[in-house]
Amino acid sequence: MSRIVLASSNPGKLAEFNELLAESGLSFVPQSAYDVEDVEETGLTFVENALLKARHASRISGQPALADDSGLCVEYLRGAPGLYSARYSGRHGDNVANNAKLLRELDGVPTEQRGAFFICALVLLRHADDPAPLIAEGRWHGRVLTEQRGTQGFGYDPLFLPDGETSSAAELPPGLKNRISHRGRALAQLRAGLAAPHL
Ligand code: IMP
Repeated sequence: MSRIVLASSNPGKLAEFNELLAESGLSFVPQSAYDVEDVEETGLTFVENALLKARHASRISGQPALADDSGLCVEYLRGAPGLYSARYSGRHGDNVANNAKLLRELDGVPTEQRGAFFICALVLLRHADDPAPLIAEGRWHGRVLTEQRGTQGFGYDPLFLPDGETSSAAELPPGLKNRISHRGRALAQLRAGLAAPHL
């Protein structure tokens, strides 16, 4: 089984990746096990930031590394909150304030202009100088509601109505959300890429 450093400080993500990629023969260790600290996310796109994080973790640990980066892009807002999804309101991880700001920014905007998608980029580097990383990207399209619905999930889930659903992302059973979401799609793509001989 290949051991991969997960370029994240989030214990929830470690459990999720270990569970979802176990059948691909991978096991993940947190970057903290190698004293890797978070790197500054200076990229202009999700995939650039995932690459920066994976390369940093791989360089310091000397091991293969996987990183992810995700967020919400609203068409009317030219892709915002985008890379700043976690700190849209100014305070990192303040979901209440982030959702309130998104509702304010879209105040009065009609349904047909509230299109949005969640995106998740995953980058797997075999070593820090790997010139051909395995890159996977998943998108989940829908629109931004005018008020919050549901209590499950996290982040912008209560404001996101996925295409083809009558429930918000925060009203969907978590198992279903994880299968059809941007993250679920990116992981499926990564698994398919791993089925080819890589590591
Ligand atoms: P991170 O890449 O895990 O740091 O996620 C960045 C931010 O994007 C999160 O803090 C959330 O605000 C938002 N986000 C990413 N994925 C989701 C999701 O599945 N539901 C709701 N919000 C999400």
